[in-house]
Amino acid sequence: MSRTKLLNPGPVTLTDRVRKTFEREDLCHREPEFAALTLDVIGRLTRVYPETSDEYTAVLMTGSGTCAVEAMLASLVPRGAHVLVVANGVYGERAASMLEAHGKSFEVVRSGWLEPVDVAEAVKKLEGGGFTHCVTVHHETTTGRLNDLSAIGRACQARGVGLLLDAVSSFGGEEIRWSDWNVLGAAATANKCLHGVPGICFVVAKKGAFEGRSGAPSVYLDLFRYRKEQQTGWSPFTQATHAMVALQEALAELSDQGGWTARHAHYRALTARALGGLADLGVEVLLESPAAYSSILTSYKMPAGVTYERLHDHLRREGFVIYAGQGQFQGAIFRIAVMGDLAEADVDRLLRAIRSQLPS
Ligand SMILES: *Cc1c(COP(=O)(O)O)cnc(C)c1O
Repeated sequence: MSRTKLLNPGPVTLTDRVRKTFEREDLCHREPEFAALTLDVIGRLTRVYPETSDEYTAVLMTGSGTCAVEAMLASLVPRGAHVLVVANGVYGERAASMLEAHGKSFEVVRSGWLEPVDVAEAVKKLEGGGFTHCVTVHHETTTGRLNDLSAIGRACQARGVGLLLDAVSSFGGEEIRWSDWNVLGAAATANKCLHGVPGICFVVAKKGAFEGRSGAPSVYLDLFRYRKEQQTGWSPFTQATHAMVALQEALAELSDQGGWTARHAHYRALTARALGGLADLGVEVLLESPAAYSSILTSYKMPAGVTYERLHDHLRREGFVIYAGQGQFQGAIFRIAVMGDLAEADVDRLLRAIRSQLPS
């Protein structure tokens, strides 16, 4: 059976291997099997990037990616902290709104959504001192831009500023330089580059981050509560048990396929094919150059004479779900993500379906 291919940035088209986990026995979250499963998933998550296997732990929660980002910012930014937010899209702005909602002290270095993050200004601010934490987005899904964090990370490292990363759409698919960037915590989700099902999200954080007091002005979003109980596999609240089983299988599959570097190479190949094919059709990329994009998602200007709705509906009938622009880009662009069970032949089929909709 040929399934609809989801080209939105998560949830992804599941592989059969992950889908089959739904046929297993149902689990109670208060039974020892579930605690063992949770510990296994924590171990696997900290081994996705070998660099994190000793010094970091993973804290698992039930919720979407935003839940992990918000719990990370709530808990790992203590009272009295001062945060620099570096934003160039929907998700950077969302991080700032969270700090605002939590009553935390922060400043934003803001760029337009078509621009890279303002590295010079961010580094200047960090070197000026006074910041305890820096928050930014690794892969800004608004446009598909992979933010270059090397100089910002170096400045964080030099100043002892903890970097809190929204890695929701990059964890498992792009390189994260944990120690060079002084990453204190990175938030992500089961249902993007890891190819699990929605329901479980997580924060990979330095074990030492849990030594002080939690900054969380919240009970449910307090990572310290989860961390305390999860050291033995338990969780304070009901977890999405089926999604946890699926995540375990998805992580086993990732490892069997060669880990994040192999997945990155696969995404790169699919994205290069989409970029090349669409360029041949005269469809323009939204950003300044194809090199600005992550391996995971690309964005394109709507071709003249084609509306998003018409293109979307046609592709839907052909078995593909593409993704619209957010905010200022609504109606003006379309996005293609290559996460999930997707092969080069699917991209070729997609290109043919798009070609049929272009004015001749
Ligand atoms: C998907 C995503 C999120 C989280 O979105 P949810 O809808 O809560 O899953 C956060 N940040 C980035 C960069 C994302 O791509």
